[in-house]
Amino acid sequence: MVAHFGEELCLRGNRGSGTIFFSWCNLRCVFCQNYEISWRGEGRPAKPEELAGMMLRLQEQGCHNINLVTPEHVVPQILEGLLRAVERGLRLPLVYNTSAYDSLDSLALMDGIVDIYMPDFKFWDLESGRRYAKAPDYPEAARRAIKEMHRQVGTLVIDEQGVALRGVLLRHLIMPGGVAGTREIMNWISRELGPETYVNLMAQYHPACRVTEKQYPEIHRCISPSELEQAVDAFRLAGLSRLDHDNISTTLFPASGIIISPD
Ligand code: SF4
Repeated sequence: MVAHFGEELCLRGNRGSGTIFFSWCNLRCVFCQNYEISWRGEGRPAKPEELAGMMLRLQEQGCHNINLVTPEHVVPQILEGLLRAVERGLRLPLVYNTSAYDSLDSLALMDGIVDIYMPDFKFWDLESGRRYAKAPDYPEAARRAIKEMHRQVGTLVIDEQGVALRGVLLRHLIMPGGVAGTREIMNWISRELGPETYVNLMAQYHPACRVTEKQYPEIHRCISPSELEQAVDAFRLAGLSRLDHDNISTTLFPASGIIISPD
């Protein structure tokens, strides 16, 4: 549990996003940067009352929201804690921070409760889902889940202070060699959710966890400036217009010459 200042500016604001990480994950991404938590299950058990206490402490610290990271496999337990927290005065927006490999049953339980869905749409095709996340059904499951999230909360609404209030904030991790299917994903977002969908193109991929040069040579590197440029092009060509500028900047890739203009 932590007031997180590494999330998108519209989530962290100036007081941080109140982040709670849950142990384990329903995917097995071979490049996972949190593998101690997601693969090994580091963490400790917490009863609903304790979970409620964490949420309330984050609210007391001034956080803008409660940010639930990798929540899909513990949705019923989260609801138990949340009920107690609301009874004790929790009023912050709830952020559901997920890989998008979510069942519709879990999302149905969260309908009317989550304010901001933050799915990371990782892969477009079956083979990438199988090879890199051990889930060949990932693309289909993600498309279904994201459409349901959008049906529940709509496009992202940001207040006059620049803080997100409600809606879908869609993330996409750019991968080396185009293995994520960025262009197809951007086209799908624009077509199915609308060109006003708020998107964060994440450029921070680096080899981690099981990614060795021998086993996964094609992703055993960071993305290049031209791959970042291609991803931004794909975003624009898809007709999308709301790009999170915080994560992609000319400082990150000073040689790329990419200029991101504000909304
Ligand atoms: S979904 Fe995220 S936390 Fe889970 S294994 Fe993949 S990268 Fe790690």
